[in-house]
Amino acid sequence: MITDKIGDIRLLERNRVEKWLIEQGEQRYRFRQLEEWLWTKGVRSFDEITSFPKCLRDKLSQNFSFISVSTYKIKESKDGTLKSLFSLYDDELVEGVLIISNNRSTACISTQVGCKSGCKFCATGQAGFKRNLHFVEIFDQVTILNKLSVEHTGRPLSNIVFMGMGEPLLNYEAVKESVKYITGKPGLEMSPSRITLSTVGIPEMIKKMGDDNVKYNLAISFHAANDSKRSELIPLAKKYNLKELATAIKYFHKKTNNRITIEYLLLGGVNDLPGDAAELAIFCRNFPVKINLINFNPVKGLDFVNSSKEDTLRFQKILKNKNMIVNIRRSRGIDIDAACGQLAGKSNITE
Ligand code: SF4
Repeated sequence: MITDKIGDIRLLERNRVEKWLIEQGEQRYRFRQLEEWLWTKGVRSFDEITSFPKCLRDKLSQNFSFISVSTYKIKESKDGTLKSLFSLYDDELVEGVLIISNNRSTACISTQVGCKSGCKFCATGQAGFKRNLHFVEIFDQVTILNKLSVEHTGRPLSNIVFMGMGEPLLNYEAVKESVKYITGKPGLEMSPSRITLSTVGIPEMIKKMGDDNVKYNLAISFHAANDSKRSELIPLAKKYNLKELATAIKYFHKKTNNRITIEYLLLGGVNDLPGDAAELAIFCRNFPVKINLINFNPVKGLDFVNSSKEDTLRFQKILKNKNMIVNIRRSRGIDIDAACGQLAGKSNITE
């Protein structure tokens, strides 16, 4: 068996697989066909490669393997949102969500098993960190949710958000490699402008995204515009102050010209006061942004409450008066714990 230490043909260097095919007496075009089957058609067993003769399929099965992600359970919300619990090769679990609306199918993808950021309002943050996902495990979530979207709506995914379990910028290389196959050929050929990476804000990595001249969108999970309140809510933010974050976002914008989205979770009495909105407006003067205000979704064991409707509207008005673009985002899938901050990789998904 030819494997790397994890055991997936897609994690091997491409020229190693190509060389192996040539050693079997195959023509070079076979490798191109194999890549097409792996990345565009998304096969997860060599028997599915129906254009290959059986003897070649058998040889591939004897020499290579997959660590495919499989769907362990699916739960459907009253609003049509689907939450999928994915099982990984080492029996770890992560969650992905398919959010269906009139003209969109958005996949929310996980990048880590657990998370180091420890955000106080988030179920994943409370569960600790186990490991990074390999890029093929990120890619597999996309292909599975893509098939689910076709089954439920008749159309493929329109958008992808890296907003599930984990901090994507702490597993950046794997995210980057998965995006290569999501947007490229061989691959799913989706437009990068349909992809958003959401981060709590790690300045050096945001600058790296700028240097990489990424074509996808950046969202910052912001939640407070002063350092002490922000680091209470997002322990990882203690390492980086808002000044460094602003510098990194400005750099990213200068390099990519992409607009940045600020995600702001409104927690009643914690970060939804007029002073908080005023501080947020000052921070957002630094670059072109769109602000999404998000309702807090209940998480078992956490004491936060959602901001009242009046306080939410007051918060929005203060920002609008400063000429900011501000939307109040409706949460989806709350009844199945599929909304923002509720994902935890629980095996009791059908409860
Ligand atoms: S909100 Fe995101 S970054 Fe924070 S703990 Fe949850 S998964 Fe991690």
